[in-house]
Amino acid sequence: MKAFDCKMCGDCCYGEGGIVVHPEEIQAISKFLGIIMDSFVQRFCYKKNGKTYIRSGEDGYCVFYDEKRKCLIHPVKPSPCSMWPFYRALLTDKDNWELAKEACPGINPESSFDDFVRQSKARQEESAK
Ligand code: SF4
Ligand code: SF4
Repeated sequence: MKAFDCKMCGDCCYGEGGIVVHPEEIQAISKFLGIIMDSFVQRFCYKKNGKTYIRSGEDGYCVFYDEKRKCLIHPVKPSPCSMWPFYRALLTDKDNWELAKEACPGINPESSFDDFVRQSKARQEESAK
């Protein structure tokens, strides 16, 4: 049983802030979009407390969220997006995992917390190969 299977509802792409992009991710996304990094930052990001974040559009969704095609930068999306929901805060605290289940329909309510943790580890091992 899969502990997580994204339903592509887009709920986690809604709202201002939170999606920080690191320099290597800025490089990868800029390359993916075929634009220079300065242009990417200027057009799609804002800076706060020394960090760079992806902006939201007027509809409140991340500027890269598209209702039909979903994440327009899916292959190179930043780590907060690609790692969700396998965050340390959820893997180390069952209560956080319970709360996250209410917010994200992709987290399988039938799955156990142990399965969630186990599958996260398996995923990490797979990506380290
Ligand atoms: S980068 Fe993609 S997955 Fe992340 S918030 Fe934006 S649209 Fe959603
Ligand atoms: S809220 Fe969960 S199910 Fe919906 S798009 Fe985000 S990760 Fe996928």
